[in-house]
Amino acid sequence: KKPQQQKKKTEGAALIGIDVSKEVDLGEWYQQVITKGGMISYYDVAGCYILEPGSYAIWESIKDFFDKKIKTLKVKNCYFPIFISAENLEQEKEHIEGFAAEVAWVTKGGKSILEKPVAVRPTSETAMYPYFADKIQSYRDLPLKLNQWNNVVRWEFKHPMPFIRSREFLWQEGHTAHLTKEEAGTEVLQILDWYADVYQELLAVPVVKGTKTENEKFPGADYTTTIEGFIPATGRGIQAATSHCLGQHFSKMFKITVEDPSAKEAGKSEKIYVWQNSWGLTTRSIGVMILVHSDNRGLVIPPRVAEVQVVIVPVGVTAKMTPENKDKLYKEVDAIAEVLKDANVRVETDFREGYSPGWKFNDWELKGIPLRIEFGPKDSERHVVTTSRRDIDDKDQARGEVAISDLKDAIPALLETIQTDMFKKADSEYRAHRVEIKEWDNFVPALNGKNVVLSPHCHGDKCEDEIKDMSARKEVGDNTTVDSKAPAMGAKTLCIPFEQPAGIIEGETKCVNPNCKGLAKSWVLFGRSY
Ligand code: AMP
Repeated sequence: KKPQQQKKKTEGAALIGIDVSKEVDLGEWYQQVITKGGMISYYDVAGCYILEPGSYAIWESIKDFFDKKIKTLKVKNCYFPIFISAENLEQEKEHIEGFAAEVAWVTKGGKSILEKPVAVRPTSETAMYPYFADKIQSYRDLPLKLNQWNNVVRWEFKHPMPFIRSREFLWQEGHTAHLTKEEAGTEVLQILDWYADVYQELLAVPVVKGTKTENEKFPGADYTTTIEGFIPATGRGIQAATSHCLGQHFSKMFKITVEDPSAKEAGKSEKIYVWQNSWGLTTRSIGVMILVHSDNRGLVIPPRVAEVQVVIVPVGVTAKMTPENKDKLYKEVDAIAEVLKDANVRVETDFREGYSPGWKFNDWELKGIPLRIEFGPKDSERHVVTTSRRDIDDKDQARGEVAISDLKDAIPALLETIQTDMFKKADSEYRAHRVEIKEWDNFVPALNGKNVVLSPHCHGDKCEDEIKDMSARKEVGDNTTVDSKAPAMGAKTLCIPFEQPAGIIEGETKCVNPNCKGLAKSWVLFGRSY
């Protein structure tokens, strides 16, 4: 039975607002926020969703930002087919083992059964690398750097969640081949930095950079670097994006070789396998942004990705007002909008008839527009506009006033303040919920307290599995958990953070798992996760 829902029905909001709070029922809240906010519409194939213009616009700004970055590395965009032959898909053993359970296959064409079923790409390593083998004939053909903005299909059986885990999703997948391990390694980190920028600079969402453990790395990779986010409402971690060094695993399977230029200089002929990377960022990022920032009034969109940054709503238009005065007020609103457009602010005016200003306020709040400007006869007399920030909950604190003569400087500055304040708030929340735990007794209680946990760990894969098992909620009477409402799920390793706190003494500090005889190699971030 659902807990008593906290109805939030203020005047005018009743029909359009969110009627369950984030704290009471996160699942229902999320569904209402994304549908009423114009992000997602549901579809009749499980795990697939319609991305409405509201969310697609955010995807476009992510795309625009990241595409410009990778072009500075001379990465070129291209497009490969959505289908992969069974032969190619199965070339790299670990890779196919990792993906087999999630691959969707086309087995029929109309009524006829296909002689050779084809796979729908879950990722395109095996679609692209035969082409790499063909194009890379000499070390002069290196580096080869390709990227696709496309869709992939992973027939996930875990509970789907719009943006966060869908069966079809949009992403970019970069695939590059290099002559040396070092060059490949440098690129892996450069891409990871840009992924962190997408989250932190655009979406105002903090992340932790690190390396995946052997257990959690990409199937077929040498190593996987990752950025890990945090959802405060559930205390769970989320893999935000990954940049993999594939090493030579795929180049060996697909025979992507060049003649070693240094051997050639010495008059010898030696083949070397190229070093490869792949890296991907998906529409999951939009879901993380929504879960982190949005509130009980709906979406809260950071200004840098908001399609509309400012909405101007005329107020104080009464029935008694003369048509001339109304016309004058509306013209002033238009003039304000023009000033803001000239200052490169994405602005909209709301002259809709038949809706009260209160209703309009609620409507724009639901859509998460970062800043509202109210303008009425009284503001006009005083040559000011009234502002209201979407990111601040308290109505009085959210409000401000800007002189008309200051608009072109003050509004862009205010939008930047909103952007940085949103990041600061989310960042301090994540920091407060990343707790250092050395004693096992405190590990599960910390997880149950909606934290992710940094602990000394031995990097053993069996030990990792054991921790996952020991931190899962078991039958009644099991004392490994203290909170019966905590999720049953155990904690997995999220990453080995690049930034390591002090406190591990080599050869002395023990692994956090009390059953493990090993010594800690580093701090590892653990968490229940999406
Ligand atoms: P991978 O190619 O497996 O490293 O995936 C790249 C990124 O895709 C991961 O880091 C996740 O952030 C994201 N991702 C994985 N599965 C899904 C999914 N089902 N829906 C949306 N995003 C996903």
